[in-house]
Amino acid sequence: MTKTSGVSALLWLFLALVALLFSASAAAAQILPESQSELSIEYTNSQQKLDLETAKSLPPTDWRKLDTDRASFGYTTDEYWFRFKLEAKPYDRILHIAYPLLDELTIYIMSPEGVRTYRMGDTLPFDERPIPTSEFAVPLPNDIGGEIYIKTNTQSSMRLPIAVRTEVGFFETQMNRRIAEGIYFGVLLCMAVYNLFGFIASREPEFGVYSLYTLFFAGLMLSLEGLGFHYLWPDSLYLQDKGIPIFGSLTFLTAALFAYQLLELKRYRYTWGRGLMVMAFLAGLSLLIAIFANYRVSIHVLLSLAVPGCLFLLVVGVYMWRKGFVYARIFTLAWCSLLVSVVVNSLGYLGIIDSMFIQRHAIMIGSGIEILLLSWVLAVRYSEQRKERLQAEQRHNRELEESVDERTFELQVALRELQDVNTELEQKNTEDPLTGLYNRRYFQQHLERELRRTLRRELPLALLMVDVDHFKPVNDTYGHLAGDQILQQLAKLMQQHAKRAADIVCRYGGEEFAIILPETDLQEAEAFASQLLEKVRNTEFKTDAGLLKITLSIGVISTSVRIFDNVDELFKAADDALYAAKHEGRDRLAVQ
Ligand code: GH3
Ligand code: MG
Ligand code: MG
Repeated sequence: MTKTSGVSALLWLFLALVALLFSASAAAAQILPESQSELSIEYTNSQQKLDLETAKSLPPTDWRKLDTDRASFGYTTDEYWFRFKLEAKPYDRILHIAYPLLDELTIYIMSPEGVRTYRMGDTLPFDERPIPTSEFAVPLPNDIGGEIYIKTNTQSSMRLPIAVRTEVGFFETQMNRRIAEGIYFGVLLCMAVYNLFGFIASREPEFGVYSLYTLFFAGLMLSLEGLGFHYLWPDSLYLQDKGIPIFGSLTFLTAALFAYQLLELKRYRYTWGRGLMVMAFLAGLSLLIAIFANYRVSIHVLLSLAVPGCLFLLVVGVYMWRKGFVYARIFTLAWCSLLVSVVVNSLGYLGIIDSMFIQRHAIMIGSGIEILLLSWVLAVRYSEQRKERLQAEQRHNRELEESVDERTFELQVALRELQDVNTELEQKNTEDPLTGLYNRRYFQQHLERELRRTLRRELPLALLMVDVDHFKPVNDTYGHLAGDQILQQLAKLMQQHAKRAADIVCRYGGEEFAIILPETDLQEAEAFASQLLEKVRNTEFKTDAGLLKITLSIGVISTSVRIFDNVDELFKAADDALYAAKHEGRDRLAVQ
């Protein structure tokens, strides 16, 4: 299962449980035996603190009848007194005040045996309560009847939903409430841990911030429901007193940071991002006030931050939604869900919505949906971003591959060009430009190679040194150009004469040539040379100065008749032979 479908499944599960609770709670409501209207409660309030006797002696005109089920009085510093008559019943009952945020609550039960007094409230340790519940409850044993006076004051909003229940009825309401709270805080804890793991695994800060947001929100709800005092900090009157503004400020701080990161306002909408930062800063201030100032001041600071803060977050969400930012839609829905529940809850307080269930559970349902939706959007966004990153990576790799291919191709082209140039250069290096024959450099390398090869195979190698007779006068008489033309034609003639593939004709320099004849003994070489002499003697070279004739002198050697240790010796012998041919009168060959 993917992350996102996991969260949406959880959302559905949560909604199903809420529906289940709704029906259970509706059923439970019918077994409440005595509600406030049946009890005919009267109340009075005053700035001064009264004792029981003074309260009892107040004139009846000071007492007003409580005509609503909700008994909600808003924020007030007054001390409130309530009284009603309780008929004796032959079974045990419980006086239940289903509102956890009362600082001081004193219940006086007038019975024939005397006055029973119970002191409770946030300012007293939890374990002093006669019945350990996050709300307030005192036992009414059977046959107890008479007047009951209740004195209370609180810095929170003043409410006093009084009910007298049978033990079974009380147990039933507590069970329903605890189950609802169990599910609710279970979901919050799951989301906090789940996103903490998300943060550890992905290192994406929004997971961490969201995990903290969920925890702080849970802290706020635990304080509001009195459950923190019941289960987590029963001995900490400080936290019971300051829990709401402290956790409220922290919730706002993390909400602002979370929205900032989720909606990527830094990137898309800088000024609004700044607005959220200001909100986070104010939440920080509110936290300091919560820690150091008294409750009444800090709760008002928090509330005056909460109203514009919530609206601002909503406006940011809607704006980003309209801009087409996908995640903003879910963010806005989540935020709306919480705000609607707060509004519904307030309408319940004001008596406009007449449902105890909605009044008590609206914020739990709204915030539960909100928490799940936000976790969902976070997971969706993360998986989308991962997909995008993966695609970008693939794109990048592809581009890289393409550019490597391109470079490789360019390199190959360059290499081929280089090779061509190299071959050309090599050719030029070994070629004589005038005649197109191999040059002297090539002659020397090649002669060495051939000598070694033929020695190895015990084959003969012949070398002919050829020099044009009296060439200087030809040049002097007919010009250098004619001389060149003769040399070119002579080169061609010699090349044609050396028919075998292994035969090599080189221009050794000037009008001097060398012919290498592999696998040729002296006899064959002599025959080759004399045929060449004959051919040249009978050739008329075409020049610009007319047809001209020349003769050659050739020195002939072959390894078939003499051993040579190295190329120098071989060459010297051939040169000596040439010299001898010249000396003997030219137009002939000589053998060494
Ligand atoms: P012999 O070899 O028979 O003793 O006489 P020779 O006149 O050929 O002797 P020498 O070696 O003194 O002269 C060679 C001449 O060849 C000198 C120069 O005028 C000519 N020669 C050398 N290289 C070239 C060339 O590339 N082109 C032309 N046109 N003439 C060249
Ligand atoms: Mg010469
Ligand atoms: Mg010469």
